[in-house]
Amino acid sequence: MPIEFVAMETDLVHAYRAGEPDANGHPAERAVSDGIGKPCRHCLRDVPAGDEMLILAHRPFDDLHPYAEVGPIFLCAADCARHEPGADLPPVIADTPKFLIKGYSKRERIVYGTGAVVPTTEIADRCAWIFADPDVAQIHIRSARNNCYQARVLRSD
Ligand SMILES: [Zn+2]
Repeated sequence: MPIEFVAMETDLVHAYRAGEPDANGHPAERAVSDGIGKPCRHCLRDVPAGDEMLILAHRPFDDLHPYAEVGPIFLCAADCARHEPGADLPPVIADTPKFLIKGYSKRERIVYGTGAVVPTTEIADRCAWIFADPDVAQIHIRSARNNCYQARVLRSD
């Protein structure tokens, strides 16, 4: 089952950088990264130490419903190159030992039984196993400790 890791869409990132309100209706906060555990959801690399970053509430779902969780994310405040969708583990994923992953249906509902904290080395195999269920439309990768959304995984054609 070919899969791809998908970062946040560039148009949305540009909007947040330009002052678009976040999922809670607030402008993004600005802070200076210490370079440790500050993953940008666009380039999927840690925001380098000393660089400015945005902190904002993001809801990685198309519609509003009970499963549409909102949570904090970081973004590089300056322009960065979006991580190209692909099968290789993005840098910020590869550098962390484990993640919470869970599958969602086309209606963006959790597909129960898919959620688990898995070692990063097993993410690709686990995602392929989850996608064997045709009800699963996408998989979220979230921080194992803090539940923060990192990226999504889709089936690759
Ligand atoms: Zn970035």
